[in-house]
Amino acid sequence: MSSLRKNIAEMDGYVPGFQPENEAEWIKLNTNENPYPPSPEVVRAIQAELGQDGTNLRKYPDAASRSARRIAAELYGVDPSWVIMANGSDELLNNLIRAFVGEGEELAYVHPSYSYYATLAEIQGVNIVRFGLDDDHRLADFPERYTGKLFFLTSPNAPLGFRFTNDYIREIADRCDGVLVVDEAYADFADSNALSLVSMCENVIVTRTFSKSYSLAGMRLGLAVARPEVVEALDKIRDHYHIDRLALVAAEAALGDQDWLKENLARICKVREWFSTELRQIGYRVIPSQANFIFATPPDLDGERVYKALFERNILVRYFSDPLLKHGLRISIGTREEMEQTLAAMAEIG
Ligand code: PMP
Repeated sequence: MSSLRKNIAEMDGYVPGFQPENEAEWIKLNTNENPYPPSPEVVRAIQAELGQDGTNLRKYPDAASRSARRIAAELYGVDPSWVIMANGSDELLNNLIRAFVGEGEELAYVHPSYSYYATLAEIQGVNIVRFGLDDDHRLADFPERYTGKLFFLTSPNAPLGFRFTNDYIREIADRCDGVLVVDEAYADFADSNALSLVSMCENVIVTRTFSKSYSLAGMRLGLAVARPEVVEALDKIRDHYHIDRLALVAAEAALGDQDWLKENLARICKVREWFSTELRQIGYRVIPSQANFIFATPPDLDGERVYKALFERNILVRYFSDPLLKHGLRISIGTREEMEQTLAAMAEIG
């Protein structure tokens, strides 16, 4: 259509991980979903909100997510004015670009990391710079001063699974003229996180998701911890009723049940360590992971071959044709049983 904006007409859309329709027939380890259900408190809260006849759904949700914000703020030891809730952390990534980067201005992200940043930037007509990684997982060619408006740092990195140290993140923040957005989608699975840097450094913003650690990918929930002036700006940009009533009570209940979260995380991290060790024993190279997935490289460096052989056995993992990633596979951590079956299949495939 000739009236489309040029950048929209010319861009490729983002392709999310494959979601099979007959889910029950697959071991699904391709989109880093949590293999365990969310807290029973989440189910109770949604049922209570729905009630017998769903009458609450007549009413708009709280446009300011006040209750969820308060609970998150208490959990993270900040004032509620430092928290914004979101309809998935993807909403935040989009609105952060809209808030900080004008058309024709520049943002950066690490390659490899989450390529959706580039899609969102293209929609806004924003120029994109990618910084690579060296063998020690530090940024290659990062300038003494980065003058772009925004830098997305995914930590733990997806799809590689390592995390940047807080000392290093701080150094990067100091070298950025613009904001440093630390995308901590996977931080609950890590030994440490960058939350404390939000109050220590003026330009650091941390984003989180409920999709992985809280088992709520299907509810679409995220949050950011940022300075009040950033939260105020993001509040102006977002849809006013961006989080529905069921998602809001789900967020509150999930944040409120930290015992459930901790048990869930412990189980996943234990299976992650076991699976990594086993894969190394059959000749794979596995990057030590701080997330709920691992990046594993077969001895012949042919990720696609193993991906296809697993696919034939109804096991879905993530293969990236990107030259920097095609030697390996990103494998989400499922239940112990799922990972035992996957390991047996990988050993057989060779
Ligand atoms: N950041 C990273 C690094 C991710 O991998 C994902 C999930 N694909 C997201 C953000 C988006 O998560 P959400 O489901 O909260 O939109």
